[in-house]
Amino acid sequence: STQIHLAARPDGWPTPDDFRTVRCELAPLAAGEVRVKNEFLSVDPYMRGRMNDVRSYVPPYALGETIQGGAIGRIVASAADGFAVGDAVLHQHGWSDLVQADAATFRVVPETPGVPLSLRLHVLGMTGLTAYVGLTAIAQLREGDTVFVSGAAGAVGTAVGQIARLLGAGRVIGSAGSAEKVALLTGKYGFDAAFNYRDGDVRGQLAQAAPNGIDVFFDNVGGDHLEAALDAFADGGRAALCGAISGYNSETAVPGPDNLANIITRGLKLEGFTIGNHLGHAPEFQARMAQWLAAGEIAYDETIVDGIERTVDAFLDMMRGANTGKMLVRV
Ligand code: NDP
Repeated sequence: STQIHLAARPDGWPTPDDFRTVRCELAPLAAGEVRVKNEFLSVDPYMRGRMNDVRSYVPPYALGETIQGGAIGRIVASAADGFAVGDAVLHQHGWSDLVQADAATFRVVPETPGVPLSLRLHVLGMTGLTAYVGLTAIAQLREGDTVFVSGAAGAVGTAVGQIARLLGAGRVIGSAGSAEKVALLTGKYGFDAAFNYRDGDVRGQLAQAAPNGIDVFFDNVGGDHLEAALDAFADGGRAALCGAISGYNSETAVPGPDNLANIITRGLKLEGFTIGNHLGHAPEFQARMAQWLAAGEIAYDETIVDGIERTVDAFLDMMRGANTGKMLVRV
């Protein structure tokens, strides 16, 4: 098996030296275990946080161990009841091509013709669920709301824009880091307006896109985007604080919003969430998303990097914005 281990804790932006590719022989299969050949590995922003040795909602990665995270593959050998060779399984064993472990750590997923397995790692999986829960349970989206999504062309962001529209939002606005992504948002993804934050003046660009203010902010970026949203909020606005990627690789704290007082004067609700505490919404989400997909109402993009040896590059490229939609490694 080829595995990617964390070799050192990065300072700021990770470098290839912080990771090590390790090859090892798998032991003979023990009773109750399965062996899985991975097809897709997920690279996610939260992984950067787990590379630090700090207290968070998930424990830090251990040095010298395989980087854990979402992956999907097929069983190639089984010594466990209910797990057959050929079954597709979702799991959290992370960055390796072959993985062998207790069958209880894998979940067999049903396969639907025409639905690629990789979607279980984004629109039909955790990132889709994050978008859905953030909009519904956290931001309490109402019909007619104007919604602003930062990081809109990524895995979570593309799902947020479309789900907001399907749930009756009046106007959907997104920001992303290139002109191509902006064009995709207003084209394929049906956003009413979008802007490129690299053009500068996030506040001004948001004000122009939302002349009547915003009711819901789904934040993936933090920093200047949160500041801009606090200015743009209509009274009674609600924010789902999902991520703050603009600070994940920064060695010093990013300066905070200078207009936090708007939370008081406009009666805003800003609520952070981690999806692990809201998994009760998964069955309802799965049912609705499967229906939307079947009806052709959900578009998605995947940026696929081939070869497990390029997993670290894929992770770093995702953090820099090289992905549109979900960044995946095809093993
Ligand atoms: P994405 O697919 O959105 O990939 C990350 C994107 O972030 C890049 O494509 C890049 O796009 C953008 N980005 C990077 N640096 C900056 C910056 N300085 N300012 C603005 N944008 C930047 O990743 P995900 O969809 O997987 O995750 C999106 C967010 O959601 C992250 O903040 C993540 O931590 C969070 N998250 C939170 C969860 C929860 O439970 N709360 C669960 C899942 C995700 P661009 O070209 O536009 O810059």
